[in-house]
Parts: sequence; C-alpha cells; structure tokens
Amino acid sequence: MVIYQYPFRSKFEFGTKYGVKGEKWSCGYHCGIDLKSKNHGGDGLVYPIAPGVVESINAHGNSYGRHLCIRHNDGMVSLYAHLEFITVNRGQQVAFTTKLGREGTTGNSTGVHLHLELHQDKYKYPAKIDPRQWIEDHLKEVEDLEIKKLTVYVDGKPKVIDAVFQEGTNYIKLRDFAEVLGSQVKYDNVTERIDIIKKK
Ligand SMILES: [Zn+2]
Repeated sequence: MVIYQYPFRSKFEFGTKYGVKGEKWSCGYHCGIDLKSKNHGGDGLVYPIAPGVVESINAHGNSYGRHLCIRHNDGMVSLYAHLEFITVNRGQQVAFTTKLGREGTTGNSTGVHLHLELHQDKYKYPAKIDPRQWIEDHLKEVEDLEIKKLTVYVDGKPKVIDAVFQEGTNYIKLRDFAEVLGSQVKYDNVTERIDIIKKK
C-alpha cells in the first residue's frame, strides 16, 4: 500500500480546486489542485506526495513552467508545476524527505503557487483524478505505519496519545492534536518531554 502526503511539510493553504470549470484551461476545467505555501506562512519547499522516481523534467509544455513528474510504485504519476527551481534530476529516486524544488510562478501562472496533478499509469492531459481526494484517501490507510503511544503534557498533566511514526518523525498526529486544542507544542530534545501549552 502506497501512502501519500501533501507536497508541503510546512504551512500551506489550498487554492483552486480540481474540476473547477473555466475558459482559461484548454480542457475546460482545472485538472489539478493548487496549493500555496510561501506567502502563507510556509517555506514553499516542495516534496513528493509519495516516494518514487523522477520520470521527466519540463517534458509537458511551457504552460506548466518549470515542472517535473514522479512515478510512484503503484503506477501513479504526480506532476508539480510552476516551480521557481528544481533540485532533482531525471532518474533520481525520491523519498518523502527529498526536496524537489520550490513553488514559484513560472509558466502560465498568476501568482506563486504549486499546481499538482495526478495521472494513472502515465501523463495524459487532462488528468482525471482529484489529487486532494486521492491524498486524503491514502493518508487514512495507516496499516503500514507504526502507531506509537506517546506521553505528552497538557498544562503540566501527562496524557497518552497515538502518534503515527513515519520516515523517522512522529509529529504528524501531534500537529493535528495541537491544532484541535488550539495549542502550542514544545519538545525538549534532551529530556524528550513534550509540552502542550494552551493558548490563552
Ligand atoms: Zn492549477
């Protein structure tokens, strides 16, 4: 089972959704999703939505600007467009932790954002899959992930929570947890103590 993640590890917001109709797209609809990080509190660095191999770079036309495609083990191909720069090469193996480049506004773009498409088997315009739906469906299949019991401290009181351990990190669930509580998370490297401080 291939697990998918969103292509930003820092803060981001969703822009134009998949399937929105419009004249500006030659197929008549937006066949990917737009995500925005750099101007929305994130670092804009783009990561693969799943591990794979860089299949092509700038192979699908100028309107995508600087773009690349990654082939995943389940046969899916993801495309990342309008990048400011690209830091991988064709044929390179990429993991969740491999930086692909940074979101930009190259090609047919009106502002800094990442346009993400997902294709089955091979790139074929227009993409028939909603990447957000796909990622959401494949985030939930957690049987391959290690669930760890973590003790955290909420206002000084210990609380045991489930954390998903993946690629050497377990802050994914913790981040959700903090968001639900409207809290701030502090982690002490030395004592491995996690404090969650509720916002006043
Ligand atoms: Zn787009």
